[in-house]
Amino acid sequence: MTVKGRKKISHIAPKQNLQNMQVDFLVGLRIMEQLGKRRPSPHDTVHERDDELIKILNWFTLCLVSDSSLPYHDIACTMSAVPGLVTVYFTKGSAHPPNKHDHESVSLFLGTLHKVLADDLDSTAALQNFLSMLAVKTFPEVYRKLALIGTTEGNDPRRTYDRFCGLVDTWRKCRPQGEESSGLVVIAQNVRGSAEYATELLMECVLNLMCLEPVAHPADVDAKNAYMLPVLEACTLVTASTFFHDLVQSDSAFRVSLEINDVLFLHELLKRIIAVARYRSGCAAFAGRGIQNLKDILGKEGIANFVTGKGGIVVSWISRRHSRPYRLYHWPTSPHAEIMQLLELETLAIDDLDDELREYIARTEPVTKMWKKGGAVTPVLHCELQMILYLEKHGISVVGNSIGMNQPPCWACHCYMKKRKSVPESVQWTMSHTTGRPRGYWRIPPGNPDMAVLVLRALDKKVEHAVEEYAYECYP
Ligand SMILES: [Zn+2]
Repeated sequence: MTVKGRKKISHIAPKQNLQNMQVDFLVGLRIMEQLGKRRPSPHDTVHERDDELIKILNWFTLCLVSDSSLPYHDIACTMSAVPGLVTVYFTKGSAHPPNKHDHESVSLFLGTLHKVLADDLDSTAALQNFLSMLAVKTFPEVYRKLALIGTTEGNDPRRTYDRFCGLVDTWRKCRPQGEESSGLVVIAQNVRGSAEYATELLMECVLNLMCLEPVAHPADVDAKNAYMLPVLEACTLVTASTFFHDLVQSDSAFRVSLEINDVLFLHELLKRIIAVARYRSGCAAFAGRGIQNLKDILGKEGIANFVTGKGGIVVSWISRRHSRPYRLYHWPTSPHAEIMQLLELETLAIDDLDDELREYIARTEPVTKMWKKGGAVTPVLHCELQMILYLEKHGISVVGNSIGMNQPPCWACHCYMKKRKSVPESVQWTMSHTTGRPRGYWRIPPGNPDMAVLVLRALDKKVEHAVEEYAYECYP
């Protein structure tokens, strides 16, 4: 790559430059996050369903997270199993220690599991117990995610709903028989007396999800339950609908008939609804097959040990035991200077930017607001990488090499994992599909600088692309 006046850190020997490389990561990811998200990513229209085990592990973490918008609140989870003993591992970003809320949530989870195993409840009763448990600790987080559904289209629930309705009309032209998913059809038959009302019911569910009345967080668990259960049910019905099924089938007549912007809108909407539906789908998977598998592994003795408090199921937090503060970094330049320099790259397809136009682009608000020169920033070793490093260091093998998380892996973690695949005999880990979007303040995992260089090179390309697209957008 030819760069005017700027030597790319990714082309310098990594070991002496780990600190600089970390700063380059922070800068690059921030630019990609702020400027790149204005354009659709190819990942935006990828839809993959998680397998049962990942669904369950993801759900374990969902039971714990109180506000995933805060730093160090991401949680990864995995499980090792030998006959008679199951160990569930949790870790937060940078192995941040668990707080009071985390400990309370784990106790609540184990208490509910205790009831299910001690009373040998069937899957329906187990599901009810676990769903009630969710309302106790996760209500604010579910509500936060719920509020995002209505704002898929420009922060306006009514506009979001109108756009959705217009696309349902388009869909009906391709599928005149309308909604045929079993969940919605059965309810339409039972409540309205005919399967014909299933499409109407789908639209009502979506309308209710989008135009929720603001709610003061009720203190009473029953009130929380009364609020959450129908919402989770509605999200589950909508994600299983024929409408969204037709959207994610790349060769369906509906999908083929759509403009790209409409495809992106519906995928974004579906993602936001799935983010809520995961609370129920993971719960159902665990209450059903999950509990059965758990019983098979534990055997009679393991179950008795768990019920009498002598083991059987153990929770282990991977966290830092020493109190050394997390390393701070400082933004080295102003975003203006950084973007001015990037706009000079010879590799950009736009090469006729004059100084005035570059200056204009670098002064726009999305650029100037990216960071403040000299401001402190603490990068986080994301929880999934933290988990993997720990398991590999201690030679722990886990069920299915699967790792659950409260949200899908970010671009940088995904890219790092992909590059690792080229290392002979490296473990192939299974997680949810990535969103393809970066997530803030990524810390370089220790111990493998060459791998980080490969990721940084991939990031360089992403950043150039983001800046180029942004420059086009600003073009008069
Ligand atoms: Zn990540």
